[in-house]
Amino acid sequence: MTILIAGGGIAGLTAALSLHQIGVHCRVFETVSTPQPLGVGINLLPHAVRELSELGLHDALAETAIPTAELAYYNRHGQPIWSEPRGLQAGYNWPQFSIHRGELQLILLQAARERLGAGRILTGHHLSGWEDTGTGVRAHFIDRRTNLRFPDAHGDLLIAADGIHSAVRATLYPNEGPPIWNGAILWRGTTRGSPFLTGRSMIMAGHEFQKFVAYPISRTAADQGEAVINWIAERKFQPNHARQREDWNRPGNLADFLPQFANWRFDWLDVPAVIQAASPCFEYPMVDRDPLDRWTFGRTTLIGDAAHPMYPIGSNGASQGILDARVLAREIRRLGPTPEALAAYEAERRPATAKIVLANRANGPEQVMQLVEQRAPAGFARVEDVLTPAELEDTAAGYKRIAGFDKDALNARGPII
Ligand SMILES: Cc1cc2nc3c(=O)[nH]c(=O)nc-3n(C[C@H](O)[C@H](O)[C@H](O)COP(=O)(O)OP(=O)(O)OC[C@H]3O[C@@H](n4cnc5c(N)ncnc54)[C@H](O)[C@@H]3O)c2cc1C
Repeated sequence: MTILIAGGGIAGLTAALSLHQIGVHCRVFETVSTPQPLGVGINLLPHAVRELSELGLHDALAETAIPTAELAYYNRHGQPIWSEPRGLQAGYNWPQFSIHRGELQLILLQAARERLGAGRILTGHHLSGWEDTGTGVRAHFIDRRTNLRFPDAHGDLLIAADGIHSAVRATLYPNEGPPIWNGAILWRGTTRGSPFLTGRSMIMAGHEFQKFVAYPISRTAADQGEAVINWIAERKFQPNHARQREDWNRPGNLADFLPQFANWRFDWLDVPAVIQAASPCFEYPMVDRDPLDRWTFGRTTLIGDAAHPMYPIGSNGASQGILDARVLAREIRRLGPTPEALAAYEAERRPATAKIVLANRANGPEQVMQLVEQRAPAGFARVEDVLTPAELEDTAAGYKRIAGFDKDALNARGPII
C-alpha cells in the first residue's frame, strides 16, 4: 500500500508526516528541484499549531517563530479600534505562531526526510497526469527543466496538494480558468527593525481600500532585542486595473504603493520607514477561487490551496491546509486507503473551508476597520462613539467560530488523530 502526494508545500508535507504517524506508506512528489525558504511571513492559528505539535514539531516551530500575543486593529490615522489577546495569552492551550513561510516549509521538509526517508520525498518531480485504474492510481511525472518523463508511480490514492495552480484541479475542472481577483494588490516584505507595541503584536491599520498589516516573525531577532517585521501593504483598484498573473515570487515596485502610505507615521510604527527598509518586496494580487461542489473523484482528492484557495485574510491559508491533512489521515486510518476515506474527509472539510472562503470575501474580521472608516474617516475621539462593543466582539467571535478556532471548542475537543 502506498499513497502518492503531489506537492511538497505546507499541506502536502503535513499529509506525509500525518500518514507516517499512522503507519501508512506514502511518497511526496514536488515540482521544485531544490526547495528554498520562499515566501514571507504567515500565521499558524492555535488549531493548526496543535496539529503540528501532535506531530512533534512544536519545539522546532518555537525556536524560529514568534508566539503572537495580540491582534490589534487601527484606523489609517493609527488610532486603536480593537485589540484582543491571541494564542496562549487568549487562553488557548496552543500558541499562535507568526513564522516565515519558507522556514515552516523547511521544518516540515526536514522532518519528512528524517522520518520517511529522503528517498520518499522526490523533488524535481512535476505531476503531469494520472489515471484511475479502478484499484489504484498511476501517476505521470516529468522534470520540468528537461521535460523528461520519469517512470510512472503507482499508488492506492493520489492526494493533490499542488497549490493554487493545481494541475489536478485543472484536469478535473478544465473550464475553471484562472483564480478570481478582487481588485486588491498586496505588496509583501520583511524589514529588520525595532520591536513595536508588545513585541509580539500583529497589527492591521486602515480600511478595505488601503491597509497595512505588520507582525514580527523571528525569534532569533527578538532574542537580540530586534524584530524582523513581516508587512503587507494593500491597495484596492478599479476592476479594469491591469494586474500581473499571481506569482508568490514576483518582485514588487515601491513606487506603486509607497506614496499612498507616505503619511502613515504613527507614534507606535513608522509605516513608510518600514516599507522603505525592506528587502526584497513582492507583489501578489488578492485572488481566490469559487468553492467547488466536489473534491474527490474516485481515488483522487484535493487538499490545501488546490482545494480551497482563499484570500490571505484572517490567517487561514496554511492553517486550513494543515487541518485538511490531519482529517484526511484520520479517515484513511479509519477506512483504509479507499475512495470512502477520501469521501469522508471531503464531507467534513469541504463545507468547513467553503465558509471561510466566503467569509474572507466579506472581509473577514477586518470588516470593523471598514465600518470605522465609513463612520469616522477623519478619526475619532473615542472609538465607543463609532462602534458598539457588541459590533466589535461579534465580528471577531463570529469569524473564529467559522474558522474553527473558537477557544472553548478547540480546548475541549479531542485530537483529530
Ligand atoms: C513559493 C511560495 C511562496 C508563498 N508565499 C506565501 C506568503 O508569503 N504568504 C502567504 O500567505 N502564502 C504564501 N504562499 C501560499 C501558502 O503557502 C499556502 O496558501 C498555504 O500554505 C497552503 O499550502 P499548500 O501546501 O496548499 O500550497 P503551497 O504552499 O502553495 O504548496 C504547493 C506545492 O505544490 C508544488 N507543486 C505545484 N504544482 C505541482 C505539480 N504539478 N506537481 C508537483 N508539485 C507541484 C509547489 O511547488 C508547492 O511546493 C506561498 C506559496 C508558495 C508556493
